[in-house]
Amino acid sequence: MKTLWEVKSMSMTRRDLFKLAGVGALTASIPSVGFSAAERVKKAEAILPPSKGSRVVVCGGGWAGLTVAKYLKKENPNIDVVLIEKRPNFFSCPISNEWLAGLVSLDFISHDYNQPASKYGYRFINAVVVGIERDKRRVYTNHGYIEYDYLVLAPGIKYNYDAWFKGDKNMAYYTKVNYPAAFIPGSEHLALKRKVWEFEEGDFVITVPPGAYRCPPASYERAAMIAYVFKKNNVKGRVIILDPKEDIAPKGPGFRAAYEQLYLGIVEYVPKAQIKEVDPVNKVIKTTAGDFKFADANLVPPHQAGELVWMADLIAKDKDGKPTGWADQDPLTFQAKADPRVFLVGDVIGGVPYPKSGHMGNSQGKIVAKIIASRIAGKDIKPTLPDNTCYSMVNGEPQEAIVINVTYDYNDKEKKIVPKPKVINERSESLAKATYEWAKSMYKDMFA
Ligand SMILES: Cc1cc2nc3c(=O)[nH]c(=O)nc-3n(C[C@H](O)[C@H](O)[C@H](O)COP(=O)(O)OP(=O)(O)OC[C@H]3O[C@@H](n4cnc5c(N)ncnc54)[C@H](O)[C@@H]3O)c2cc1C
Repeated sequence: MKTLWEVKSMSMTRRDLFKLAGVGALTASIPSVGFSAAERVKKAEAILPPSKGSRVVVCGGGWAGLTVAKYLKKENPNIDVVLIEKRPNFFSCPISNEWLAGLVSLDFISHDYNQPASKYGYRFINAVVVGIERDKRRVYTNHGYIEYDYLVLAPGIKYNYDAWFKGDKNMAYYTKVNYPAAFIPGSEHLALKRKVWEFEEGDFVITVPPGAYRCPPASYERAAMIAYVFKKNNVKGRVIILDPKEDIAPKGPGFRAAYEQLYLGIVEYVPKAQIKEVDPVNKVIKTTAGDFKFADANLVPPHQAGELVWMADLIAKDKDGKPTGWADQDPLTFQAKADPRVFLVGDVIGGVPYPKSGHMGNSQGKIVAKIIASRIAGKDIKPTLPDNTCYSMVNGEPQEAIVINVTYDYNDKEKKIVPKPKVINERSESLAKATYEWAKSMYKDMFA
């Protein structure tokens, strides 16, 4: 009789299991002293034997990568799916602002990677991807390499502190540690929560990044939630939002109403505040809308596609040949323009009118899984378009939220994806309830 694992992971043998279990030993066998990082990668050994069928390696176990891994297995259980993720557990950025304000527990937004790997039968490898060789179809991790037939890159975003500090790594480090952006899950969120709850008085500045960035409403929601904490605890503090845009978007009227009706004198919104200089040591930000001194801050630098897309040399270039910062993929199939074996999904993608959101990553993940499964089956399918829903909590007592839903049409004549947004700017308790229902259904879709 087959074990549960054998049933769920048909192509894995006892020897493979032994190899996986021996991952630590394998790492130790790669000499580290006297070898450069590049040499270490060259000396790496395979973590898994070549696959008997088709293997898809998914790099990044966030909203997009988790969805691709699960839905590939649902499409075809015989596909050998490997998910590589550097974090030991999952922390959700969606609902993290509610957690920041003490409205939900850490449990609600934390999940384990074992449950979906076990339930859907893909392999979860807790490792850091350190190199990609597309010509050899190999992904290198800190434990060794893995070969693929198809590769999915879903590493999310990275911060571009160079835009502020022109390569001064010490200033970037100082800023990251003292005024964390908290747009990438992990310690930064815990640090931000500590800062908000320990804040005594003065101006708490939030910078909104320019250009494309993860979750456009997140900073406005965060401002409302921090203002709620200050109001509730009678803190003599103000939340100053420095926004390079001309106005709040999306859900501008909803956020404005909340700031004016719930947090008058607490939230100050400053439009057209493009950053000219950040001086974290003297706690000053110089912008095109004036200079702002702060007592504490949530300094969010510009965003770019996560490192793995740069590593794979799949970043788009503008007309002058400069990197745009975002992936160069087909807008409908998410396939890398430079490599039909690679798919790019989630926040990394560029050149499309899709917001960088968890809902969007989940929706794209299902489409990409269908496309890869049909390629493996030797068929071509017409890709569908993703959709987006994004709730923002603006009040804590009672809990009230606003929402935007977006579907998309494809204009075949102009070869353009056209967004069709529907916004509810009137905050309500029923939308707050719907926020949590949405989150639960998303977590269930990725984990349970
Ligand atoms: C405060 C805040 C609130 C938000 N609220 C919402 C919301 O209400 N609704 C919504 O839909 N979206 C929201 N978002 C946006 C959402 O979090 C992101 O859009 C979503 O996480 C993107 O999914 P992703 O899979 O592309 O990236 P991620 O979820 O970041 O996943 C990328 C994964 O790749 C891993 N990784 C990166 N590099 C490597 C490597 N070298 N090796 C191994 N693993 C690697 C990372 O550890 C990470 O787990 C919010 C974001 C923030 C910051």
